[in-house]
This record gives sequence, structure tokens and C-alpha cells, in this order.
Amino acid sequence: MGELRGALEAAPQGAIGLVPTMGALHEGHLALVAAARANSRVVVLSIFVNPLQFGPGEDYDGYPRAEHRDLELANQTGVDVVFHPGMSEIYHSDLSDMVTVSAGPLGTVLEGASRPGHFDGVLTVVAKLFNLVRPDGAWFGQKDAQQLALVKRMVTDLRFPVDIHACPTVRAPDGLAISSRNALLSSEQRGRAAVLHRALLAGCAALDRGSEAGEAGDVMAGIVASEPGVELDYARVVDPVTFGAPQHGGPALLVGAVRIGATRLIDNLQWPALEPGDV
Ligand code: AMP
Repeated sequence: MGELRGALEAAPQGAIGLVPTMGALHEGHLALVAAARANSRVVVLSIFVNPLQFGPGEDYDGYPRAEHRDLELANQTGVDVVFHPGMSEIYHSDLSDMVTVSAGPLGTVLEGASRPGHFDGVLTVVAKLFNLVRPDGAWFGQKDAQQLALVKRMVTDLRFPVDIHACPTVRAPDGLAISSRNALLSSEQRGRAAVLHRALLAGCAALDRGSEAGEAGDVMAGIVASEPGVELDYARVVDPVTFGAPQHGGPALLVGAVRIGATRLIDNLQWPALEPGDV
């Protein structure tokens, strides 16, 4: 920790940009680094697989880890400081016996309903990282839209002096959102995984035709159901800020989660479709 503060002490005011990750770096993470690089004098990349955001029976142990490759990639992409804390630097006491951040009602729907306590775990570690790194700005991916919304809420509600920046989702050529968990898919499963993006696109097309949110959700669910080996968790059209029911014809977020074998994948699209450069 002394090392981290030492490296950042000399940074001029307003200079520090943080990109929090769980490692196993990919193009999505590197896009966040590039955006942080373009806007910060000092870029800090944190790598910490946070046990508090995994539920019992989830893939904490099996989550991809690639420390050496991550450090190489961080060096190649101009990261100034890699903060790769050990468990005791983040959690000094028993995980079940400490003060944590509560994500509130938005933390209990969609991802929060499927993964109880997940967002409390996410916000707790993000709050700790903000306090340890003391960044001026932090970069998050639109890929995890509910997480991004909750981080923005936490910063507003708990008055963190950090500017939150969003980056668009980076996708593979077949549309699959790039994710560390994609490495856990067999090649057959990987081929099937793009159905989630196709379903979201079909949901957007349904909204374009004037469908109600519920009908567009059914269209998405039907497309996922037609792909063998892919199990739907949820496919919904929600308000992009509250994640509740959207206003008819108003801006919406199409969100989906599927299970493919033991791997759970999430994705989302904004509607109406964004112009290039928007997030
Ligand atoms: P993770 O390591 O999965 O916790 O992700 C760290 C950060 O990278 C989060 O802000 C994610 O939203 C973001 N991220 C992950 N995948 C992508 C992607 N395909 N495109 C853009 N950002 C991403």
C-alpha cells in the first residue's frame, strides 16, 4: 500500500485516472485504459478478483486469472501504476464481519435478483479502491450497465469526489460482448454465445417497429430459447436510469443474461441505437 501511495503522491492535482478490473485483461479493459490514458496524466489499473461480489456456488475459484499476461499488457498499453493488492490489503477482517456499502433497491433487481448481495460486494470494493487510489476520474464499461449505474449512484449518494466515465461495449466480430468469462466457454459454447447479442438486436428491432417493452422482451426470450444449450436468465427492456419499466417510446436499455453450461454471460444495448462515439 505504501508503494501505491508513494507512486501517486507526486501526481499533480486532477491527474489520476483509475480503471478497476478483475484481471484476465482483454480488449474491453484495454479500451477503458485507452480512454483513461487520453484523459489522465497518471493511469492506475487495479486488478483484484473480489470475493465479496461472488455468491456461494458462483465461480470465484474458477474465475480466469492471468497475472503475468496482465502485467505485460498493462505495460504495453501505457498504464503507469498497476495496483494488484493482496487479499489482506483490501479485507483486513472476516468478510462476514465488516462495514459494507449497500446498493439499495437498484441492487436488488435483474443482476441483483439473480445474484443476491453481488452489488453490495461490487460497491464495497469500488469504494475501497477509490479511498486507496484517490482517483480524480474512474472508467467503467457499459457492458456492465447496472454496475455502472450503481457506481454513479454511489458516487452521487455518498459524495465521492470522483468523475465516473463510461466506455462503450467492445464486441467480437459475431457481436458477443468480450468478457473474461468467455475464456471458460468450449468452442461449441462460444459459437452459441452470440445468440445473446442477436436477441438484443431483435429486441431493438421490435421497439423500432413500435412494440411494447414486454413484447420486445418476449422476442428476445424466444430467440435465446431457440439456441440449444443456452438457458435464459432474463431478457428485459428497462428504463436506463431506474432499471424499472421504461416510458413507452422513451429511451430504453435492453438487458439480458444467459447461462451456457456453468458460465453466465450478460449483455445490453441502448435504444434508440447510439451514434458512433456515444456511450
Ligand atoms: P471486470 O474485469 O469484468 O470486472 O471488468 C472491469 C471493467 O471492464 C468493468 O468496468 C467492465 O464493465 C469493463 N468491461 C468488461 N468487458 C468489457 C467490454 N467488452 N467492453 C467494455 N468494457 C468492458
